[in-house]
Amino acid sequence: MLCRQLCKRAWSRRGLATVANLSYDVCVIGGGHAGCEAAAAAARTGARTLLLTQRLDTIGELSCNPSIGGVGKGTLVREVDALDGLMGRVSDKAGVQFHILNRSKGAAVWGPRAQIDRDLYKKHMQSALIDYPQLDVRAGSVFDLVFNHEDVAKSRWGKISGVRLDNGSVIDCTQVVICTGTFLSGEIHIGLQRFPAGRINEAPSLGLSASLNAAGFKLRRLQTGTPARLDGKTINFANMDRQDGDASPSPFSFLNSTVDNAANQIPCFKTNTTAATHQIVKDNLHNCVHIQETKKGPRYCPSLESKILRFGHRESHNIWLEPEGYNSDVIYPNGISCSLPEDVQEPMMRTIPGLENVRMVRPAYGVEYDHVDARELGPTLETKRIQGLFLAGQINGTTGYEEAAAQGIVAGINAGLSALQRPPFILTRADGYTGVMIDDLIIKGTEEPYRMFTSRSEYRMTLRSDNADLRLTEKGRLAGIVSDGRWETFQSTRSALYSATETLKSVVFSPQGWAERGYPVPLDGIRRSAFEMLRYRNISSVALSTLIPDLAKLDPRLLARIDIDGHYDAHLSRQEADLRHFQEDENLLLDPQMDYSAVDGLSSEVRERLLRVRPTTIGAAKRMEGMTPTSMVYLLRHAKRTFKKYEESLIVQPLV
Ligand code: FAD
Repeated sequence: MLCRQLCKRAWSRRGLATVANLSYDVCVIGGGHAGCEAAAAAARTGARTLLLTQRLDTIGELSCNPSIGGVGKGTLVREVDALDGLMGRVSDKAGVQFHILNRSKGAAVWGPRAQIDRDLYKKHMQSALIDYPQLDVRAGSVFDLVFNHEDVAKSRWGKISGVRLDNGSVIDCTQVVICTGTFLSGEIHIGLQRFPAGRINEAPSLGLSASLNAAGFKLRRLQTGTPARLDGKTINFANMDRQDGDASPSPFSFLNSTVDNAANQIPCFKTNTTAATHQIVKDNLHNCVHIQETKKGPRYCPSLESKILRFGHRESHNIWLEPEGYNSDVIYPNGISCSLPEDVQEPMMRTIPGLENVRMVRPAYGVEYDHVDARELGPTLETKRIQGLFLAGQINGTTGYEEAAAQGIVAGINAGLSALQRPPFILTRADGYTGVMIDDLIIKGTEEPYRMFTSRSEYRMTLRSDNADLRLTEKGRLAGIVSDGRWETFQSTRSALYSATETLKSVVFSPQGWAERGYPVPLDGIRRSAFEMLRYRNISSVALSTLIPDLAKLDPRLLARIDIDGHYDAHLSRQEADLRHFQEDENLLLDPQMDYSAVDGLSSEVRERLLRVRPTTIGAAKRMEGMTPTSMVYLLRHAKRTFKKYEESLIVQPLV
C-alpha cells in the first residue's frame, strides 16, 4: 500500500509520463541503507534529489539479520542520528527488543542494539522518505553512468552528467551516489547451484559493473551469506536460554526519550549446534560452490561451513533464534548462515536442540558480488577518477546496515554540497567511527568485508555512543543538514549538560570533607570536586543529588551522560594532547592531484603508493601502508611549500 503511495506521489509530483528530460542535482542509486541516508542527506542540503531504486517495496529492506546496532555499529547509528539521519529514528519505531551490549563494561564499548520488525522498518523508512522535502523517489534500474568517456580514457578527470536506465532513458544530474549493495554482478550460491541475483528473487545489477569497469575502476569479488528462515510454530523453545530486552530501553535517536514498543518487547532464545550438525556440514562441503570459491567472506560473521573448517576443535557453536516481527512466525537463526544444498539444510537444522521438528520456510544462501577498491575514493566518498561520482555502502567493501548508512549520509551530504558548490563535509578519525571507517577504507582498502569494531579507533574513550550528538550535531548544522527542531533539542541538551557539569565542578571538599558527608575517598590530602568524585565507581550523580539537590531535577538520561563524562574525565584529559597532534596533521592538506614526480627524495615504492592512494592530508599519508619516515620528511617539506597555494584554490566563492 505504502509502496503504491510512494510510487504514485513520486510520479504525480512532477506529473511525468516518461523519464526523458528529467533533471536533478543529485541522483542516488539504490534504496538500501546507504541509499536511504544518502538520498535524505542530499535533500537536506537543499539539492534537488532523486532516489532511484529497482523496487519501491524493498526500500529499507534488511537483507539478512533482523537487528540494528551492536558494539561499534550502535555508535555508527547514533552518529547517523546526530547528523539528522533516519536509521536511529526508524529503528526506535520498528524495534521489538532493545538491549545495550557490554553494559557491564565501560561506556566506551557499550553497544546499543535492537531486534527489528522487518515490515515495520520498511514501512517507517518508506514513510519517512515519501514526503521528504527536495526528494523524489522512483522505481527504476540504472544500467549505465553518463560521463565524458574520452577524458577518462586519457586519464584525465571525468565528470558525471547523468544516469541511463535499463529502458534507455537518461536522467540528467551533476552528482551520482551509487549504493547498490550486493547487487553489482551479484550471483547466488545454494549447494552447487549458482544463478545471477542481487538478493534472493531480485535481479542483479549487470550494466553498472560494466560501466564502472569502462571508467577504469578496479572491481573485485566478495562474498557473504544468510541463514535459512524457520517456522517458529515448529520450534520447541522450552529448554533454551531466553534473552529479554532491557526493562527501560535506550532509544537510538537523541530526539526520542523512549521507543514505540517499549512495553511490548519480545524475547530471543539461545540454542547451539551439535556434533551431528557438524558432521552433516563436513559431509557436504564438496557440494558447496560458495565454500570452494576463493573470494573473501565476512571474517567476523562467518558461515557455518567456515566456522567448522576454521575452528575444528569446537564441539558446538551458539545460535540465537531471533523473531522477525510482531506479525510473523518466522525465526532468524543467527550464527548459521550457510550455502549447503537445499535438501540438506532442513535435516541439518533438525540436529539442533529445540529444532528437532523444525520446518524451513526459506533456504540459506551465499551471494558473491563486485565491489570497488575504496582507495579510489577521497574522504567525501567521491571517486578521484570521476568528478561528481560518489560510492557508499557494500559497494565499497563493507558489510552491515550501519556501516552502509554511515557512508550513505557522508556521501549524500557531500553530493548535495558539491551540487550547490559549497565546501565539503569531512569527518576525521577524531570526529567519529564514521571518520575512522572512511579513513580505513580510503587509505588501506579492504581485502575482506569491512565491519566496524571499537578496537578500530585509537580514540574510543572519546568516540562513545552516548556523546555522538556533542561530537557531530554542530558540524552537521554548519553544513546545513540539521533541522531547526533537532538543533533546538541539541542546544538545550548541551546547555543542561554544561551547567550541571559546572555545578558539580564548583562543589569542592577535602577528603575529610567528603568523608564527613558520607562519600569516603582516600585520605591523601587532595581536594576534589563533585565532578572528580564521579571517577569512583560507587559514586554517581544520583548519589550526589542529596548534596546538590538541583541534580535531582534533571532528566535521568542527562545524569547518566554526566556520570560517563566524569568517569572518563582523567582519560580524556590525557587523550587531548594526542588529539591536538592528530588535528595538526589532518589540517595540513595535500592536493589529491599532486605531481609526486616533483617531490624529491621519495623512494619509488612510496611514490607508487602515493599515486595509487592520493592521500588528502599529511595525516592520511602517514597512515598509508608502506610510508617510511624518510619519505615522510620529504613529503612534509614539499607539502608545506605548496600548502598555501592549494588551500587558496579550495576557497569556495559565496553563492550569489
Ligand atoms: P543494500 O541494502 O543491498 O541495497 C542495495 C539497493 O540497491 C537495493 O535496494 C537494490 O534494489 C538497489 N539497486 C541495486 N542495483 C541497482 C540499480 N542498478 N539501479 C537501481 N537500484 C539498484 N551484513 C552483515 O552485517 N552481516 C551479514 O551476515 C550479512 N549477510 C548478508 C547476506 C546476504 C545474502 C545479503 C544479501 C546481505 C548480507 N549482509 C550482511 C549485508 C547487508 O545486507 C548489507 O551490508 C547492507 O544491506 C548494505 O547496504 P547497501 O545500502 O550498501 O545495499
